[in-house]
Amino acid sequence: MDAHKKLRQRDALELASGYSERFRIVEVSAIGVFFLLLAGLAYQLWDPTRRSPWLVLSAILLAYLAADFVSGLVHWLGDTWGSPEWMIIGESLIRPFREHHVDQEAITRHDFVETNGSNCLISIPVAVAALIIRLRGDDDLSIFAVSFLGSLIFWVFATNQFHKWAHLSDPPLVVAWLQRLHLVLPPEHHAIHHAAPFSKYYCITVGWLNWPLTKLRFFVALEHLISMLTGALPRHDDFGELAAAETETATRPEGTGGYASEGTSTCSASSSGFPRKRAATATNEPGESVTR
Ligand SMILES: [Zn+2]
Ligand SMILES: [Zn+2]
Repeated sequence: MDAHKKLRQRDALELASGYSERFRIVEVSAIGVFFLLLAGLAYQLWDPTRRSPWLVLSAILLAYLAADFVSGLVHWLGDTWGSPEWMIIGESLIRPFREHHVDQEAITRHDFVETNGSNCLISIPVAVAALIIRLRGDDDLSIFAVSFLGSLIFWVFATNQFHKWAHLSDPPLVVAWLQRLHLVLPPEHHAIHHAAPFSKYYCITVGWLNWPLTKLRFFVALEHLISMLTGALPRHDDFGELAAAETETATRPEGTGGYASEGTSTCSASSSGFPRKRAATATNEPGESVTR
């Protein structure tokens, strides 16, 4: 039997119902604190930016690349390990990623708080660290570090918004233009991740790192390492033991090249939701095989 026929993902409504009123209050508070801290950082960086604009600009650009990597790493963690039932991390990190695979359009119905609250929450400790560094130092290294960390949390905040835009069938004109230039996550590029078993192209800020990380088999290597050290099976909670085991086998270097090249998936996530007219124009990345 084909591995993809054994996929059993959780019910979308069950996953969506995991978003509680209690957590929403946490998210609203986190957004308020996040923007206060960001305003504080911008104020602290005003003079250094006028003094050394190239130093700050290079930190901002490097942070964009770093945010793309962080988005991939966090996304991979949420997709691959753990359970939505876990305390705090399950509700804030794992549940939204699992819901997104079974109902891609849910993200387009999320309001500003649900879209961006979690990323604001995880960025608060970084913002505090950046402020402490700035208050302690005025040398070039400190300014670069503060600019980098401040920009990084801004791009991390923007990531879910960029991801949401990639799922809109009719995004704002300026967003569509940025997507065409691949300056924010383009829908056709992101569609590659939405082919079962969702095991590549995790980066969702802009996606520039997806191709090199896939070629380097970065996440595959991490999965094998974690499995070797802990005995845990990647995607076990999401797919069930049998499908997860076969997916894991298929991603091994000596394997057949994986799931996504095995024809049409029966998983609901790959057969629903992606912006139709835009996905229709999607093209494979060099050397990639895509199933939608
Ligand atoms: Zn995913
Ligand atoms: Zn998506």
